[in-house]
Amino acid sequence: MILLLIPAIAIAVVIGINVGWQWVLAPLLAFALLRWSIASLRVLVTDAKHLETGAGEAAPVGADERTLFWCEECGTEVLLLVRGTSRAPSHCGQRMHERTEIRN
Ligand SMILES: [Zn+2]
Repeated sequence: MILLLIPAIAIAVVIGINVGWQWVLAPLLAFALLRWSIASLRVLVTDAKHLETGAGEAAPVGADERTLFWCEECGTEVLLLVRGTSRAPSHCGQRMHERTEIRN
C-alpha cells in the first residue's frame, strides 16, 4: 500500500504544480465522499438484514408480564404485544428503553 502511495503522491505533486491543485484536491474529495456514502448505505443494508433474520421468531408476550418501551427524549410509552426481535424500537432517533412489569 505504501509502495503504491509514494508514486501516487509524486504524480499528485507534479499535477498540482503544473496544472493546478484543484485537479488533485477535487478527485480526492470526490473519492472521500463516495467512500463515505457507500459506507453509510452499507450500514443501512446490514441493519435491515438483522431485522429480517429476527422476524421469523415472532412470539406473543405472555399474559403474566407487561413490557413497555419508553422514549427518554419525549416520554412516549409503547406497549409490546408481539415480540418480533430482541432489539428495542427507535423513537426520536435513539433506541427506546425497555421496562418489564410482572403482573399479579
Ligand atoms: Zn420520542
